[in-house]
Amino acid sequence: MSVRVRYAPSPTGFLHIGNARTALYNYLFAKNQGGEFILRIEDTDLERNVEGGEESQMNFLRWLGIEWDESFDVGGDYGPYRQLERLDIYKKYVDELLEKGLAYKCYCTSEELEAEREALSDNKFDNIHYSRRCMNATGADLSELEARGEYSVRMKVPAGETYTFNDIVRGEVTFQSEDVGDWVILKSNGIPTYNFACVIDDHLMEISHIFRGEEHITNTPKQMMVYRAFGWDIPTFAHMTLIVNEQGKKLSKRDKDTIQFIEQYANMGYLPEAMFNFISLLGWSPGIEEEILDHDRLVELFDVNRLSKSPSTFDKNKLTFINERYIKDLSTEELLELCMPHLVSAGILEGQTHEWATELVTLFHDRLSYGAEIVDLYDEFFSDEMELGEEEAAFIAQEGVSDTLKAFKDELAGLDEFTAEGIQASIKAAGKKAGAKGKMLFMPCRIATTGQMHGPDLPKALALLGKDTVVGRIEKVI
Ligand code: GLU
Ligand code: ZN
Repeated sequence: MSVRVRYAPSPTGFLHIGNARTALYNYLFAKNQGGEFILRIEDTDLERNVEGGEESQMNFLRWLGIEWDESFDVGGDYGPYRQLERLDIYKKYVDELLEKGLAYKCYCTSEELEAEREALSDNKFDNIHYSRRCMNATGADLSELEARGEYSVRMKVPAGETYTFNDIVRGEVTFQSEDVGDWVILKSNGIPTYNFACVIDDHLMEISHIFRGEEHITNTPKQMMVYRAFGWDIPTFAHMTLIVNEQGKKLSKRDKDTIQFIEQYANMGYLPEAMFNFISLLGWSPGIEEEILDHDRLVELFDVNRLSKSPSTFDKNKLTFINERYIKDLSTEELLELCMPHLVSAGILEGQTHEWATELVTLFHDRLSYGAEIVDLYDEFFSDEMELGEEEAAFIAQEGVSDTLKAFKDELAGLDEFTAEGIQASIKAAGKKAGAKGKMLFMPCRIATTGQMHGPDLPKALALLGKDTVVGRIEKVI
């Protein structure tokens, strides 16, 4: 049987890290197996759909480097790929179940259902299931109900059935039909519910494997019941474990401490290749020590037997580490491209040349964890108000330092061209003049011009700062 998998987002929001992982694992599995990866839009929950959700999800999947073989935009033989465009298909299958007596119409209003639930909630020993009032109604009662016109369709959950499946992650999982009440498969507006539409589509689209989050595990018995009602084979399921934050709590969209939307990472200047790599490790391990793995390597290594059985922690340090590694491999042009939007929006490039921008990003290449950080690094070393910390001030206060600084300032002031080479020579000359060397030479020069004891290559940094600023800073410190 050929491998066909799908990522089936609901356009109820933007691409979340958990969704991205689901998409990625389906994608990696398909590519590893030489199968097809399908993108299907599950847009049946009208109230929850958000404007732009679908487009944004697709844009950021592509940004990550996840391409699909079939969907409404790239075509395919199994369309339509949006559920709202498949309503007549679902209707046909609902009718079939009604005819076979495996489903029935329910005319109850939401108030009636609510009252029923309330009345039943006193009974602590039974699961609260729908009373089957409409299924059991006959004669005048039934006519009265039917006269209402509007109805939903409920699955008639068979008694005494066991639903067992062999989950790739969890092994054998079993549910009993007693735990499931007669659930709605078609709402009164003619739109199917997720559990029903999902099965019809997965079957018709010949989906072989389903990788999805463990929050869907309790949906699986409902879905199996539909497969059985039609006599269809069930696909292979893999319910992936939760992603948790560093405190071990399930990542929640409200969790302010962890950035969770792919778009936010893109906007901050994380690299798509690094995100692809990082997300691949959120619940799966490559079985080798190396964790910096590019697209092709991940496709090659992806093995469902190494899906994690315990929750995976969203480790921010690991993300930073991976992103830094990918940034280090960038060419100067790529690095500039990554930093450019951030430099521009911070106004740092005003009045500066392209060369200046190039030298600036090169100077910080080794220190950059993500694109937007260039602004912080710039501010740290180049901001107008330079304040000395206690330690720095104490260093400068040492005997002889002011002579060194005066000599340094004079040398710099005498430079015709304020280049890194010229500045390098000035430091040397100042040392000779003032009789300072080693740390007692370099540290004062660095502190008096950058306010810091550590930092990027000093002559290069000062060349970028410009003569007036540098000389002005030294004068102030003296
Ligand atoms: N539309 C569902 C979701 O976004 C898909 C669940 C599934 O993969 O079956 O969670
Ligand atoms: Zn009813």
